[in-house]
Amino acid sequence: MEYKLTFKEYNEAMKTGKLLGLKCKDCGSITAPPKMVCRKCGSENLEIIQLKGTGQITTFSTINVAAEGREAECPYTIVMVKLEEGPWLLGNITGVEPLKASMDLVGKKVKMQQATIFGGDKFSAGESARPLFALV
Ligand SMILES: [Zn+2]
Repeated sequence: MEYKLTFKEYNEAMKTGKLLGLKCKDCGSITAPPKMVCRKCGSENLEIIQLKGTGQITTFSTINVAAEGREAECPYTIVMVKLEEGPWLLGNITGVEPLKASMDLVGKKVKMQQATIFGGDKFSAGESARPLFALV
């Protein structure tokens, strides 16, 4: 069994502003970030598609102290976004002052702007691209 879309390819595409996902040819579900099989039915019958990058904030967290080894300007806010196509994706948010982030954010519509390069830390395998969302 092999990955239809590797995390590396997903990352590289995101750096150029493209959000990729996997569409299941059996049940139609969309999987992102990439996995080996469909997140819904477990099928390997997947095709790579480009996602719109739009969705709704389901929850958020403001980080005041970055993970050990990560160089990040704190505080910053990360959001969990339910994409229009279905999957939930973590990303950073721009245009929201971290210390003023409140429950008002939940349910707000966002669109992916570009990728932000998230530096590695003591606990990760190195830097990765992350979607940067903005309120719409
Ligand atoms: Zn499926």
